Amino acid sequence: MSERTLAIIKPDAVKKHAIGDIIASYEKAGLTPVAIRMMQFSKSTAEGFYAVHKARPFFDSLCTFMSSGPVVVLVLQGDNAIKKNRELMGATDPAKADAGTIRKAHGANIEFNAVHGSDSPETAKFEVSYFFPQTDIVG
Ligand code: ADP
Ligand code: MG
Repeated sequence: MSERTLAIIKPDAVKKHAIGDIIASYEKAGLTPVAIRMMQFSKSTAEGFYAVHKARPFFDSLCTFMSSGPVVVLVLQGDNAIKKNRELMGATDPAKADAGTIRKAHGANIEFNAVHGSDSPETAKFEVSYFFPQTDIVG
């Protein structure tokens, strides 16, 4: 079933000039970009996006990191896009990520881990609409 997921190329990966390599990975996996936006989050944009993690000890550090430099936000579309992208990303901790995953290739540690991907249909819906009005999504 074709579905949409929200991906973010995080500030660490943008700084490393990994945007092209990561988008190529999405395309090779059959995940088609249907919206792309480059931006820098304010701290409050990051806090709103990661609101589910508000109680976690790493919340403030995560929001500082996510607002530390430009990011690329994408909507990816394809069969089982949510699960497919989670598999392509690899484990949250790059040290535990499988070979061939984006986090294995570009992540530094459990916080600076190169990419975000929605983890369920409900979060995908919230996350896509957090950044993109329907009219800015093609296809
Ligand atoms: P994922 O991005 O794999 O869905 P989570 O939703 O659990 O992982 O966490 C969101 C983000 O918070 C992670 O991608 C990572 O940047 C950061 N993070 C997660 N766990 C930790 C931790 N223990 N210490 C610091 N940062 C963390
Ligand atoms: Mg998550």
